[in-house]
Amino acid sequence: MKLLVAVKRVVDYNVKVRVKSDGTGVAIADVKMSMNPFDEIAVEEAVRLKEKGVATEIIAVSCGDAKCQETLRTAMAIGADRGILVETTEELQPLAVAKLLKALVDKEQPSLIILGKQAIDDDANQTGQMLAALADLPQATFASKVEVAGDKVSVTREVDGGLETISLSVPAVITTDLRLNEPRYVTLPNIMKAKKKQLDVVKPEDLGVDVKPRLKTLKVSEPPKRGAGIKVADVAALVDKLKNEAKVI
Ligand code: AMP
Repeated sequence: MKLLVAVKRVVDYNVKVRVKSDGTGVAIADVKMSMNPFDEIAVEEAVRLKEKGVATEIIAVSCGDAKCQETLRTAMAIGADRGILVETTEELQPLAVAKLLKALVDKEQPSLIILGKQAIDDDANQTGQMLAALADLPQATFASKVEVAGDKVSVTREVDGGLETISLSVPAVITTDLRLNEPRYVTLPNIMKAKKKQLDVVKPEDLGVDVKPRLKTLKVSEPPKRGAGIKVADVAALVDKLKNEAKVI
């Protein structure tokens, strides 16, 4: 079984992002970038499926500028077998990424395509769903458990009321939730090994995809600053303030 995993290069989750002074976006120059945390979980799950003997090959895909090669090398250090960079300097929106991934799905014919449930930079939570629609494949989003048996995959999903388990036929699209697994640390020997793995670079034009943005960001602004807290004397004073000042109870 071949697996395709999408990995996005995003601002590291430890970085406190700052809005650019002209309000056009978030400052990313000289900021630490890393693999989107949900995508690390996706790669880890793929590697575990390979270790169980379910998967035979794992292909990591990243779309973006040349620096995404670092993200692909990290995926390969975790255990992906090869990488594909769809290289472009154009700003990529979820629909464009979904179209690029669809073109690669047509070419590579993977049995499972695993993505993160959302990228922590745009928080869109759209790419997996759009890919499933474009490729006409079943989808299981927000996976917290994945079990493959033959050509069926059983996915437990975290929903508002608890857990839902659904069964899909492969090929299928899965998006990962936080509790699916805990990604392993990449070791130095595996980082060295990853340097020798195959990494192909293609352009969106090679895949016949027009990646021009369809949405325009009008303005990005900082959240309002929080005022300082106060200490109240007792519960009665707290209840009074919540009722009469904050008016929340
Ligand atoms: P989003 O819909 O932007 O929240 O992203 C959801 C998931 O789609 C991410 O966790 C990635 O697995 C995948 N994805 C989004 N953008 C890219 C990209 N530029 N390159 C590779 N994968 C991506």
